[in-house]
Amino acid sequence: MRIDGHTKLAFVLGYPVAHSLSPVIHQAAFAATGINAAYLPWAVAPDRLSEAVQGLRAMENLLGANVTVPHKEAIVPLLDGLTPEAEALGAVNTVLPRDGKLVGDNTDGTGFLAALREELGCEAAGLTVVILGAGGAARAVAMSLARAGAQRIVLANRSLDRARDLARWVAARYPACAVTAQALQTEWQVSQVPEIRLLVNATPVGLHASDPRLFDYASLSAQTKVCDLIYSPPETALLRWARSRGCRVANGLGMLVHQGALAFERWTGNPAPVQAMRDAVRI
Ligand code: NAP
Repeated sequence: MRIDGHTKLAFVLGYPVAHSLSPVIHQAAFAATGINAAYLPWAVAPDRLSEAVQGLRAMENLLGANVTVPHKEAIVPLLDGLTPEAEALGAVNTVLPRDGKLVGDNTDGTGFLAALREELGCEAAGLTVVILGAGGAARAVAMSLARAGAQRIVLANRSLDRARDLARWVAARYPACAVTAQALQTEWQVSQVPEIRLLVNATPVGLHASDPRLFDYASLSAQTKVCDLIYSPPETALLRWARSRGCRVANGLGMLVHQGALAFERWTGNPAPVQAMRDAVRI
């Protein structure tokens, strides 16, 4: 894609940001659709985030921006408004320029549901789900599953108090979904959750080969589909175990691609070339 005087700009703000696959995904989308835009990584130290947002405001050819760790929550008060999704989550992963203002959006949860459907043939309605973790990703996943009609969610987290807080938060918004909290430790048995059909790892455990197991992986049964939000490495110890037990598995690449596809659609108004975006990061 040729860069010229009409090129629009998009960024991912993070710190560090060098590991991000978003530039690859979005540049592939611009190439596939012929949109004259460039997407760049922007390393922004936490104490310079407000200056970076000022920079975005000054950019008249801004197409949009993504926001990643550690800025997803810190950017909220620096923006002019939030979509209902970002407002509910208190976190932003996408910035939309709208009539000279910067509006924060969050496409993580909807992207997760799209990946679930595409990669595991799984619909949320009526589902019993275990989510490991109670941080930002777990919140987005839990909210999207509850909103889409999941019947029961068990939040298993190292810090039980944090799991309880998140369970109360989800239950208050989606009373039709039964949400409970459990303490996650290496001896924890997933088989104690009746009718479990989906397990989601929303912790960073598995990023490194030396990481300890999160629970007793031998307690997984083949009826449970397993999604690890980690995508590098492409197969974590959890996914390896789950696959060996006969479970259908997916890593976090699908969620990454779909949250990016939704951002692309909101920035450009065009359907996202999801296949091209996925092919660009296929491992
Ligand atoms: P976060 O807000 O920092 O939350 C991390 C969670 O993991 C917390 O619940 C924490 O438990 C738990 N945890 C951390 N270290 C642990 C350990 N050693 N043992 C057990 N639990 C541990 O992080 P996040 O933003 O939710 O991200 C979580 C993961 O999802 C990351 O790997 C991230 O890369 C991935 N992610 C992927 C996508 C995607 O598009 N595929 C999108 C978002 C996030 P405590 O509460 O006890 O500290």
